[in-house]
Amino acid sequence: MSYSTRVGILGGGQLARMVALAAHPLNIAVSCFDKTLDVPANGIAEISTGDFDDIEAIAKWASTVDVVTYEWENFPASMVETLCEKGVVARPNSRSLAAAQDRAREKELFTQLSIPIAEYRLADNGDALKHAVEDLGLPVIVKTRRGGYDGKGQIFVKDQTALNSAIELVNEYSCVVESVVSFRRELSVIAVRSVEGVIVNYPLTENTHRDGILRRSVPITAADELSVTAIAFITKLMDHLDYVGVLALEMFDTADGLVANEIAPRVHNSGHWTIEGAVTSQFENHIRAVSGLPLGSTELRSPTTMINFVGEVPDLTPILATPGAHVHLYNKSPRPGRKVGHVTYSPSTDEP
Ligand code: AMP
Repeated sequence: MSYSTRVGILGGGQLARMVALAAHPLNIAVSCFDKTLDVPANGIAEISTGDFDDIEAIAKWASTVDVVTYEWENFPASMVETLCEKGVVARPNSRSLAAAQDRAREKELFTQLSIPIAEYRLADNGDALKHAVEDLGLPVIVKTRRGGYDGKGQIFVKDQTALNSAIELVNEYSCVVESVVSFRRELSVIAVRSVEGVIVNYPLTENTHRDGILRRSVPITAADELSVTAIAFITKLMDHLDYVGVLALEMFDTADGLVANEIAPRVHNSGHWTIEGAVTSQFENHIRAVSGLPLGSTELRSPTTMINFVGEVPDLTPILATPGAHVHLYNKSPRPGRKVGHVTYSPSTDEP
């Protein structure tokens, strides 16, 4: 069989799995690079295995695809630069990856683009942390600059005991120390930028987290002023980075307006509802963007709610018996705090 395009994804997790599923109807082949064959994308995409620090192995794999993209922001941007020097096309570019994988660089970028953020300080030792706490006042959130996700690598510091744990963290890892934002709700905006620089965005989405892990996402329609602001933020970010593909921006909705938290240079959990709820899913639009194709409509098809399965898959019988429920399982073994699947309730898409 001959494919129109071959897309390589660094990582073979559930995001790669859902991108690969969206690529099939377009006859676009997906090949993932990951440490082992035991990954969610196996069975849907080709998997090449190797170490993430083995640039030769990655370059060899990358030479078999037309474009390389990521499902994980922590792949070193410097390695993407090396790949590009060898002639690999990487979308989004290494600059975007570099900004997203280091919270300090990310905050500098937000500041440069006049996007509001929580007050913060940098700390890589106990004294710097104590000074940051004196400046910002308790409580603060201490986050490792690199490598954190789903609330990992973060300590909420409200008292001396937590401060002691945070001192251990900053002595080991370089961190950012943030003021705690008092927010009404958490929102995200997901947008896609094509190779030609065309940007389309999905409706603003309200997200509910528990223990730092996303549990529920609901696209909202009646939020005009907020949407305009959020779209202006993400447009500035994408144009500045000359971004290609899907970008997610997580924000806090506060009494003083939107405050940016972080960006993810990839398809995002708060956009999983787009599979059934939008005219074109974030996964298809990511594939279209990185393959140099025109983007599809991001309009809402019907009111939709997405609920993550965290830790284990629940009894599916009552869920599947609910009209408009669509279950997505990631082929992952159960483990506390692990995202193993999700369900989207999108009632009117099932109506005749
Ligand atoms: P993050 O890894 O930065 O996305 O943080 C995970 C979650 O922790 C967020 O979705 C928020 O619920 C919470 N959080 C992170 N930073 C702050 C902050 N500065 N103020 C209040 N809550 C925060």
